[in-house]
Amino acid sequence: MTEKILLSTVIVVVVFLILVLVWFLFRKQRPGKKKTPYIEALNAIISGDMKTALQKLRETVHIDSHNVDAYLKLGNLLRQSGDIERALKVHKSLTVRPLSSRQRTEVLKALACDYLEARKFDKARSSVQEILSQERKELWALETLLSIHEETSEWDDACDTLKQIQKLQGQRDDVLLALYKVCAGKTLDEKGDHHRARLKYKEALRIDARCTPAYLSLGDSYVSEQRLTDAIGYWKKLIEVTPEHAFLTFERLEKAHFELGDFGSMVRIYQDLINRRPNDLRALFAFVRIKEKMGDVDEALALCHQALEKEPQCLDAQWCLVKCYHARGDDARAIEYALNLEKEFKRKQPFRCSQCGFQSQEPLWRCPQCKQWRTFV
Ligand SMILES: [Zn+2]
Repeated sequence: MTEKILLSTVIVVVVFLILVLVWFLFRKQRPGKKKTPYIEALNAIISGDMKTALQKLRETVHIDSHNVDAYLKLGNLLRQSGDIERALKVHKSLTVRPLSSRQRTEVLKALACDYLEARKFDKARSSVQEILSQERKELWALETLLSIHEETSEWDDACDTLKQIQKLQGQRDDVLLALYKVCAGKTLDEKGDHHRARLKYKEALRIDARCTPAYLSLGDSYVSEQRLTDAIGYWKKLIEVTPEHAFLTFERLEKAHFELGDFGSMVRIYQDLINRRPNDLRALFAFVRIKEKMGDVDEALALCHQALEKEPQCLDAQWCLVKCYHARGDDARAIEYALNLEKEFKRKQPFRCSQCGFQSQEPLWRCPQCKQWRTFV
């Protein structure tokens, strides 16, 4: 009898243990056994379901008002959905709490992003500077500070911040530094402070001797004070240093020389340039135009045909031909080339930003649309 009791006790214990084991295994296999609203929110963020994420984050902070990360994410989502006011309210409410240093940095970053989105640059700057006062090598903060300087046209500060970033990254980008100096100069020129503006352009050239816009702006700045000879000097220097951008000076040089009554100098400038760069079609056409203006039609015609052999679709050369044949009285040929021009005009591609596609007739060093530097091709 006792044996029977013992056996049934053993069986009961074994069955119980098996049941416990099965229950345990079953529990382990169910994924996310504790699906809290916070986990659901994180999953929704990952899958891009912002509406659910917002709802679940609200639930989370309602249940657990100590979950700082949930508040941070809630604010960030509000900002992304365009509700900057409420994003700021959520993030600001965190600043009065006791926070770890990591959390404090995250809150300040979130606030900086909110203020940037609201275009409140002074406040964004304060948040970023607070991060930097704790950790002056915080790369994100430095890069954000740089974009604030760009937005607010604080170009000298932009230079200093860029230098700090480059030091951290072990890189050097003199081209961008020089462009910042040019921007600083332009701001001064606009205010009528031409002398200090030119000091900035010269600083730019000391950083990057091939900084085309610095030469251009130096000349323009001298022109605003009627110092045409000085202006011409810098534009000629541009042709010498960066002949591939010489065409940017053509109109300026022609105007200045014309005002000085020395148009003949242009012939020499173009001739020198063509000698140095025989394939520079822009220089060739400018030369043809001058020749044509001076009545030297036959030489102009010969140069046009020479240019068209190199680039048959060239608009400038065809336009020159129209004018040259007309000047010679051969209007039938002039009309023939004129009718061809429209076709070619449609094909002509201007300069284009490789980031956003913005088009311009001139190469730009900073895209006015997407604000990226050196994206023009
Ligand atoms: Zn662009």
